[in-house]
Amino acid sequence: MKSVDIIVVGAGTAGLSAAIYAARAGKTVLVLEALTHGGQIVNTPEVENYPGIKHISGYEFANAIYEQAKELGVEVLYEKVNGITLENSTVGELKVVHTDKQSYECKAVILATGAKNRPLGIEHESEWIGAGVSYCATCDGAFYKNQEVAVAGGGNTALEDAIFLSNYCKKVYIIHRRDQFRGEDRLEKILRSKENVEFVLNATISKLIGEDGLDGVEVEDKNTKEKRVLNVSGLFVAIGQTPENKDFEHLVNLDSSGYIVAGEDCKTNHEGIFVAGDCRTKKIRQLATAASDGAVAALAACDYIG
Ligand code: NAP
Repeated sequence: MKSVDIIVVGAGTAGLSAAIYAARAGKTVLVLEALTHGGQIVNTPEVENYPGIKHISGYEFANAIYEQAKELGVEVLYEKVNGITLENSTVGELKVVHTDKQSYECKAVILATGAKNRPLGIEHESEWIGAGVSYCATCDGAFYKNQEVAVAGGGNTALEDAIFLSNYCKKVYIIHRRDQFRGEDRLEKILRSKENVEFVLNATISKLIGEDGLDGVEVEDKNTKEKRVLNVSGLFVAIGQTPENKDFEHLVNLDSSGYIVAGEDCKTNHEGIFVAGDCRTKKIRQLATAASDGAVAALAACDYIG
């Protein structure tokens, strides 16, 4: 079985930052990633709030951090982690990380599993992914050029997606369940200035309409209960994220929403298992805080290994 000092689970900003710090501290590091490196930021059209970088696309940012980690000797393998078991050895407790392909042994683990897109949970939603339903405006927006689309959500992601889509779609509806946005005022102001954007507030999506794909969405006004159909060919769901940590719940404490419980020191309740980024219990989930967690978790893991 391959053996390294530290295994990082997840190759998003937190995971790759942890890998960079651990590699720079002279440790052997393996990063295991189920999908592609970069995590959620690859879906962000423009990053403007990472200190020191005025403008960069999420995709470019993700690739830059990946290249940096690789240059420092970090190994990144695309395998889905299914669980961790423990083994006692003469050098202390070893962690055995099992993937869909094989198992790896290490002295410390950093969980940086991020979070996945939260679904609306309505009929046809998962069936019509790629046939009108999308969770990534940057990836799929170009398919809807000159068409009418809707964005569901009221956070920064929804506002940014709506701005991005309004640049080349005929019309963009932004559907939010309240009349106040959770996202930044600055982004709302940009959207309010766009002639091809319509705000559908205090509204929920009650039905996805179509045969083999999306032809429209039915929205219901929360106050009046009136329903109307928006004839859109694309629906971009941007209603936040949920963590995916079930595979580790036997080892580390999760909160009621499934986030791994740890303070700013990134230490879980299990010695030698650390957590970094959006999968950790915390208030602010930003690119900068993900990178910060990565550094903290990596240095704590190095300290633990000795
Ligand atoms: P978010 O801030 O958690 O917002 C999720 C939005 O979806 C909220 O407006 C919420 O409504 C709504 N929502 C949640 N569940 C819903 C449901 N079942 N049905 C309908 N609406 C639902 O998520 P996010 O926008 O993805 O952002 C996540 C984090 O990343 C945030 O901290 C955000 O600031 C950050 N982010 C930053 C940037 C940037 O700085 N450039 C860009 C993107 C994201 P309520 O408001 O009513 O709860």
